[in-house]
Amino acid sequence: MRSRSLVTVFVLASGLLHAQSPATKPVYLKCGTLLDGKSETARKNVVLAIQGDKITSVESGEGKEPRAEMIDLSSKTCLPGLIDTHTHVLLQGDITAADYDEQLLKQSPEYRAIQATVNVRRALEYGFTTIRDVETEGAGYADVDVKKAINNGIIPGPRMQVATRAMDVTGAYPLLGYAPNVEVPHGVQVVDGADGARKAVREQISHGADWIKVYSDRGYRVREDGVLDDIPTFTLEELKAIVDEAHRERRKVASHAIGIQGVHNSIEAGVDTVEHGDYIADADLKTMAARGIFKVPTIFVGAYVAEGRAAAGAPVWVKMLAIHEDTFRRALKAGVKIAFGTDAGGFPWTINPAKEFAYMVKWGMTPAQAIRSATATAAELLGWSDQVGTLEPGKFADIVAVSGNPLSDVSVLEKVEFVMKGGAVVRK
Ligand SMILES: [Zn+2]
Repeated sequence: MRSRSLVTVFVLASGLLHAQSPATKPVYLKCGTLLDGKSETARKNVVLAIQGDKITSVESGEGKEPRAEMIDLSSKTCLPGLIDTHTHVLLQGDITAADYDEQLLKQSPEYRAIQATVNVRRALEYGFTTIRDVETEGAGYADVDVKKAINNGIIPGPRMQVATRAMDVTGAYPLLGYAPNVEVPHGVQVVDGADGARKAVREQISHGADWIKVYSDRGYRVREDGVLDDIPTFTLEELKAIVDEAHRERRKVASHAIGIQGVHNSIEAGVDTVEHGDYIADADLKTMAARGIFKVPTIFVGAYVAEGRAAAGAPVWVKMLAIHEDTFRRALKAGVKIAFGTDAGGFPWTINPAKEFAYMVKWGMTPAQAIRSATATAAELLGWSDQVGTLEPGKFADIVAVSGNPLSDVSVLEKVEFVMKGGAVVRK
């Protein structure tokens, strides 16, 4: 037995060496303008050298002879592959409860996974070379398999971190409103009590969760003083148990929190990212800035669903936009780290999530800040700053190019013309 296992190890090791050997010649990208994701100023006429899946050098293109292996982007602006830190590849839009229920009741997880394979390809073609997918909305652990299929080269798609099933308490998350005697699926793992929460964290991690996603509030209403109020879902004790268990197992926690109490409890519990955060009290913004807790705003989806949800009987979603804009501006001023995230899947994947950039600029970011939120800052949120988010030697060759100047008109990022992921050209 022993000798046979030695042989197996040898075969595996040599196969690995073969797969990783840089048989390919270097490829060069000639960029008219380069935003490297580190500096906020653009560089003109730059040549990037790429060997295998990594960038090996970033040099001035002055006096460089044209080469056969050179891709000419001299009329374009190159920048790091974009990162969306809040997506749902297993979802196809859910303005109303009816849209959502239909998907969970009438589509099998297998059918939804097939749709997800198309969504991840779209994400990549839009220029998103990395995404964090923050729960499957009732499709179990299908995100783990989508990620695996991408990493194994079976389907094209971005680099992924996944949150699997997410969690919420009894009675708080759709599907809701069915007769008590009818068993319906839920968009999350239903979890109650600190022990139940710890068990769910362990279970999700054992099945491949990179992140733990929690829903910390629901039931939004605007108070007379203009503050966005909510109903907290988990108790602080439950939330703390989730964060403690996740951190103990080297995973991070993303908390959906929209109103004052959900956000406050999330921060008290020590989550790593606040998703949405439409209303955040000044004291909580201060704590977020001090502890490096990220806000992932998802502005566009809020605007996209507002009218439809108001028509379906929830006018608060229209009022939330002005409240969120004020919070966003206060968060910027307070120095809170803001990472680009769109909630794609909450709107159909046929809409380019890069629409988010224009909203961030409209609400007070400079275009350079908005770009940074989707590159260097998003990479930091993922813990992947050493791999993606900037264009420099040693990083993955995840590169996009656009016509025009995104520093003066950020909406050009909605028309990415060239995409490279890990040295492979995806779109040209
Ligand atoms: Zn979401």
